[in-house]
Amino acid sequence: MSVESGAGQVNNRANRANVGFCPKCGAVSLPERTECPVCRAPSPSVAARSRSRNLTVLLSLILGGIGAHKFYLGMWGWGIVYIAALPFAGISVLVGIAEAAHFHAMPPEEFDLRYNKRKPGPFDW
Ligand SMILES: [Zn+2]
Repeated sequence: MSVESGAGQVNNRANRANVGFCPKCGAVSLPERTECPVCRAPSPSVAARSRSRNLTVLLSLILGGIGAHKFYLGMWGWGIVYIAALPFAGISVLVGIAEAAHFHAMPPEEFDLRYNKRKPGPFDW
């Protein structure tokens, strides 16, 4: 019986996460919204973003030519530009390598601020 109520609690928590209650004021917020309609706090789905800087470096190095790191960070617009630029002397591969160095040198706090505390738009840089 106690096991069942435990599972029920887990389900309740999952349902609450899906509906998207504002962690700050408790207002109901749709999951696709980036901020609370009442207090403008970041919505749980945005707050839960946890893009890894190290994985971003790796993706820019190895798959930078097809913009994998851009897709990973949510900037799919640039990802498409990278793929489109690939036939031109592999310029996006070179840019990807430069970006790997850039992300590697970026302080983790700044990376968090830019890519985890908010959801970048498709053409954000
Ligand atoms: Zn709120």
